[in-house]
Amino acid sequence: MMTLFGIFTVTLFGLLVAFALPKFLLQRAIARPFPAHFSKILRKNIPVYSRMPTDLQLQLKRLIKQFLYEKKFLGCDGFEITDEVRLTIAGKASMLLLNRSTRVYPDLKMILVYPSAFIAPRIETGVGGIVTHGNQTLSGESWSDGRVILAWDHVQKNNGNLPDGHDVVLHEFAHQLDSESGRTNGAPLLNNKARYRSWSETMSREFAMLQHSAETQTESVLDYYGATNPAEFFAVATETFFEKTTQLARYHPHLFDQLRAYYQVDPRDWN
Ligand SMILES: [Zn+2]
Repeated sequence: MMTLFGIFTVTLFGLLVAFALPKFLLQRAIARPFPAHFSKILRKNIPVYSRMPTDLQLQLKRLIKQFLYEKKFLGCDGFEITDEVRLTIAGKASMLLLNRSTRVYPDLKMILVYPSAFIAPRIETGVGGIVTHGNQTLSGESWSDGRVILAWDHVQKNNGNLPDGHDVVLHEFAHQLDSESGRTNGAPLLNNKARYRSWSETMSREFAMLQHSAETQTESVLDYYGATNPAEFFAVATETFFEKTTQLARYHPHLFDQLRAYYQVDPRDWN
């Protein structure tokens, strides 16, 4: 029979394993030096990294180390996960977390990477409740069950190029942030009610403006795809904020201010 002291010791040990050990292992992973070839990959595939101030570079490297420690990568259709794949995806995803007191995608467990656009089954309910089963070719997909799926050729298309407003990694990870609130509806976690109110006012107005632009085929800084629904609007606005920052600030100053307040960076400082 176990003594009271024995029970106490076992419980204490159990608590240590459950809470202290994961934290210790994470801190150890973060404390490891950032390999030189990792920095080389960042400079090549995320050129803005070289232009960021030192404190942001250090933050980014720390976030990347945590991301790589916590998340699993899985190659699909024979695709090989290399350091370049891991660093590029982790680096871009971590850009969305700079300067913010947030956890590193707590619900995300796995990133699945296909060599190129992949086919995903789709079920759509049409008029009269008729359900159609079909397939859709996708470059990326974000699930609230802890998965992000990406096509590497589409990820690479944005590497090193002049910003064109599109970045599938920024897009899908914006959906992940959106999901953290419990619903993927274009409103990520914000600090207080007043912030939700002003976010909702600005986003609704800007979303309606983009819908109008899409309908009338009027030129817009934001891709028309953002007019699909509020969740896609937030993902497209995020891509635009990081990729076409100056144009967004000039033509959509209120939207720009909301995103700058949320992301806590001004990419004009490094673009
Ligand atoms: Zn999307």
